[in-house]
Amino acid sequence: MNSQEIMQLEDEYISNVYPKRNIAIVKGQGALLWDADGKEYIDCIGGHGSCNIGHCHPSVINAIEAQLPKLMICPSILYSDVRAVFGKKIAKLTPNALNKSFLSNSGAEAVECAIKLARKYTKKTEIIAMKKAFHGRLGFSLSATWKPKYRKPFEPLNPDFSHAKFGDIQSIKDVITEKTAGVLIEPIQGEGGVNPAPEGFFQELRELCNDKGILFILDEIQTGFGRTGKMFACEHWNVVPDILCLAKSVAGGVPMGVTIAKENVMNAFATGEHGTTFGGNPIACAAANASLDVLVEERLTERAAEMGAYFKKKLTQLKEKYKIIRDVRGMGLMIGVELRFDCRDILLGALERGILILSAGRNVLRFLPPLVIKEEHIDYVIDTLDELFQEQEANWMKK
Ligand SMILES: *Cc1c(COP(=O)(O)O)cnc(C)c1O
Repeated sequence: MNSQEIMQLEDEYISNVYPKRNIAIVKGQGALLWDADGKEYIDCIGGHGSCNIGHCHPSVINAIEAQLPKLMICPSILYSDVRAVFGKKIAKLTPNALNKSFLSNSGAEAVECAIKLARKYTKKTEIIAMKKAFHGRLGFSLSATWKPKYRKPFEPLNPDFSHAKFGDIQSIKDVITEKTAGVLIEPIQGEGGVNPAPEGFFQELRELCNDKGILFILDEIQTGFGRTGKMFACEHWNVVPDILCLAKSVAGGVPMGVTIAKENVMNAFATGEHGTTFGGNPIACAAANASLDVLVEERLTERAAEMGAYFKKKLTQLKEKYKIIRDVRGMGLMIGVELRFDCRDILLGALERGILILSAGRNVLRFLPPLVIKEEHIDYVIDTLDELFQEQEANWMKK
């Protein structure tokens, strides 16, 4: 099938809830993608952050191929070798105190589990999330998500959620009540515009949660697995949450969600109080085991720090050159470029020139490339953006 045929078929038969780009992708390798007509793209979308180790990593392919003829389904009421190995691996990789996981299939599911767990453990009901937060689109996770466009059509959502100002400890204190079970937060807001918190904020939040006896629930679904230049972003501030939500890059591109907690917290669930058919699936676990090994062996966390610093430096130079760029921010290879206007034309211009870029809101370009992205790719992205910004700035000046 050529691109045109694929797009027609998908438009006809697949739900049209996604704001589609007009390309049909059929192949990926490292930080590159190819469409059905053979055109190559540099991938700065990176599966929204779910292929940190690069597309189609050979180690993950081998692990899946080795698992396939053995076993593809193993419900969690039965024990599984690859699941047992994964449990230990993820506990070793995450901060020490976190050592017991619930396995699911997506980010939103990891958040749903975290919220049920917080309620069960504290015997309280209220969750404090942040303005501009994104935690997914299911029941509790949508209630925690901020954006009216995602929420409004489905209200009433869960009434036990409030939203404080991200990075503002007083704003969180203001909404704590005797019914508060936990605070749910991203280390750097992704969808909300690539917003890092001010220095010291997460340490203050950890202390606040300790003082008030409420749970600190961290959503590292986008920031985890090396993305920000640490294996998990919370390591930047030496804070350990009570519950950590993971998904996206955990299994090298295969769907998987993980809710990992302190043992006494996870043990608050009694038998049968949570569960999912496919969670801890053997193929996902085999892929995850290989993927986590690749992250460590290829030192991709360090690479994210180095390449991220290089990318950010170049983007900051563009900011000095063009007035239409308001801000460049982020950590490691999670970078946002805030423009003074809608970023749509830049996204389309980049697409034409073979670069896939994500947005975060109306006017922020978001870069989440695989951590294996090469310096020459970054240079090409920068040169292309330089041209696009120049055109846009000329248009903007005319207005
Ligand atoms: C993507 C994302 C989610 C939701 O994950 P899904 O797998 O799409 O359900 C939740 N939280 C954050 C921070 C995310 O980036």
